[in-house]
Amino acid sequence: MISVEAARATSTTSATSATSATSRTGNDKGAGRESASLVEVFASAQGEGPEVGRTTVFVRFGGCDLRCRWCDSPGTWRPTPGYRIETSAGSESFEEFENPVDLSWLIDRIDTLAPTPSTWISLTGGEPLLQPEAISFVAKGLSALGRRSYLETHGLHADALASCVEDIDLISMDWKFASDVQMGPSVVAPPGEDFHDAHERFLRVAQRAGSVYVKAVLTPSTTADEIDAMIDRIERVSRDIPVVLQPVTPNAGVKEMPGSQRLLALLARVETRLTDVRLIPQTHPIYGVL
Ligand code: SF4
Repeated sequence: MISVEAARATSTTSATSATSATSRTGNDKGAGRESASLVEVFASAQGEGPEVGRTTVFVRFGGCDLRCRWCDSPGTWRPTPGYRIETSAGSESFEEFENPVDLSWLIDRIDTLAPTPSTWISLTGGEPLLQPEAISFVAKGLSALGRRSYLETHGLHADALASCVEDIDLISMDWKFASDVQMGPSVVAPPGEDFHDAHERFLRVAQRAGSVYVKAVLTPSTTADEIDAMIDRIERVSRDIPVVLQPVTPNAGVKEMPGSQRLLALLARVETRLTDVRLIPQTHPIYGVL
């Protein structure tokens, strides 16, 4: 049986061995330097959360130790041999490379793709905190260039976050519900385990970042008990932490979102105890961008 933190170490190790086997030409940059397993880099508009609609460069790292039923990026679950980088912002034309990526080189490419100094740089996945040293290196490098980093995480690896939290400007922390989310195949969770304890630990560390908000995806399976358990834990940290309730975007894993009355009832339920709560669906699927 493997704990959540041990799972992080296991996944990181497998990511390293998987990627070093594919490192040859095109990315010998990675050898002996700061490197990581990457999936893709592209510019788009942020599709969710309080910064919705703002131009954002997404830096998608490889590997995830969870399996969410609604996941729209299963291609990130395992480290990939290669990665792709958009050639110019919004072009949807990509150059392809082999992993691992050299992080100093990556920071320069990100800087080229970001059109303005205020553009957010999303460090996402997969689960980016499976590679915390890479996140710290990239966030520090971006900060030195005057860029703002936005960490999008499943919110379970508090120790990994502690190693890089001061380098992050904004954290989007998921609150996962066991009705829809399981640990990945390399992790055996104890029967009946939920994620609330790990999330509370993570949230306490996340408060040391520039700012943090919690995002909870609502599906027809989400229960009132799960919502109440989330509220209890957030309230113990601070009732002023912003919370975004995000109706699931239907896909192959979850066919429909909760009904409108159910969504408004859940919004009211959270608002009675926390001060900054919003119901915001994903927007990028509406206009069909990455
Ligand atoms: S944590 Fe993110 S990448 Fe991992 S399965 Fe869930 S939605 Fe997908």
